[in-house]
Amino acid sequence: EIYFDNAATTPLDSQVLEAMLPYLGKHHGNPSSTHQYGRRAKDAVESARNTIATLLHASPEEIFFTSGATEANNLALAGSIHTLRFRHFITSPLEHDSVLKSLDFYRKNYQIRVSLVETDAWGRVNLGHLQYLLQKNPASFVSLMHGNNEIGNLNEIEEIGNICRTYKAVFHSDTVQTLGKRQLNLSKVPVHFLVGSAHKFHGPKGIGFLYVNKQIHLQPLIHGGSQEKSLRAGTENVAGIVGLSTALSLAYENLDDTQKYLQKLKGYLIRRLKEVFPQLTFNGDSDQQDKSLPSIVNIGFPALGDRALVDILNEKGIYVSGGSACSNLVEHGSHVLRQLGRNLELENIRFSFSKYNTLAEVDYLVKVLSNIYEPQNVLQYAGAV
Ligand code: PMP
Repeated sequence: EIYFDNAATTPLDSQVLEAMLPYLGKHHGNPSSTHQYGRRAKDAVESARNTIATLLHASPEEIFFTSGATEANNLALAGSIHTLRFRHFITSPLEHDSVLKSLDFYRKNYQIRVSLVETDAWGRVNLGHLQYLLQKNPASFVSLMHGNNEIGNLNEIEEIGNICRTYKAVFHSDTVQTLGKRQLNLSKVPVHFLVGSAHKFHGPKGIGFLYVNKQIHLQPLIHGGSQEKSLRAGTENVAGIVGLSTALSLAYENLDDTQKYLQKLKGYLIRRLKEVFPQLTFNGDSDQQDKSLPSIVNIGFPALGDRALVDILNEKGIYVSGGSACSNLVEHGSHVLRQLGRNLELENIRFSFSKYNTLAEVDYLVKVLSNIYEPQNVLQYAGAV
């Protein structure tokens, strides 16, 4: 079995599991309890917060644990509407649904306005248009992601942050796909909110965090106890928090080596596929090394009649993500690929890697794909793109 769907979620690192186990076992205290068991749990939570803050060059009081990035994005947006009273939001049509659907909900129910920054056929955000929108609406709320989860495109968040600062806008960035994969130094990147989710870097599912710049004070989305300085009520997921910080530490320890390794895997896949398929359709900038995450490549293959390639690969034990634009096979396709104006004759496949993938797995994938697209289909394919 070959797992090439690491942008959806990654396997738990065994060292992370080991670090978590005591907090699922004997250290079961509630961090709000004042006795020894409670204190031990509280220490674990605060030490994890310190670790994460140090890695990001942030302060511990700027890190708020949540159930994941969906909640963190929702909290940033809801807080900015209800507490900070923002009425104009700027985002791109390529953001994750946890941003786009939240904004759509608030647009319909709370009279906010949402402007979309122009993006081109490669999924690149037009920063000139962002400046134009900010000139017309200074002091807006800008939400632009760092790395795109479907096509792997990277946005220049440092530059975007500087533009936002010029126009006194608040800047939120969904950094789920880049956290633990690229250096993120918050003393250099002017950002007010960013988010992380442990299961994207070999940590557990159901735990993440929101970074809130200390100049900003939000009111909660979830009301109750005084956990997380009353911004996020509810007993902390202690084992999850320990897993999150352990996974992030491990990711940072090996950041450069892992990057190089992923780049090698991705480059190898692209090279080998190009040998078999004379022309390949890459979605977004996923074949551009400096503009794209080394962990993601998104490719359009010719549609195979009434069978989905993603299902055929699944039968062969190769697990990838479909994420096609709307077609006869997928009723509600990917909004990202639709936005890019992808050819619906093609079935778009996202391959996403982790440190556990190997070159031999790539070889096997290429072999399986060349068997699926026999020589006559390859010719047809070359003509079709
Ligand atoms: N943003 C992006 C870019 C993502 O890829 C994901 C996960 N698919 C999320 C947000 C949501 O993260 P979580 O699973 O922690 O809710």
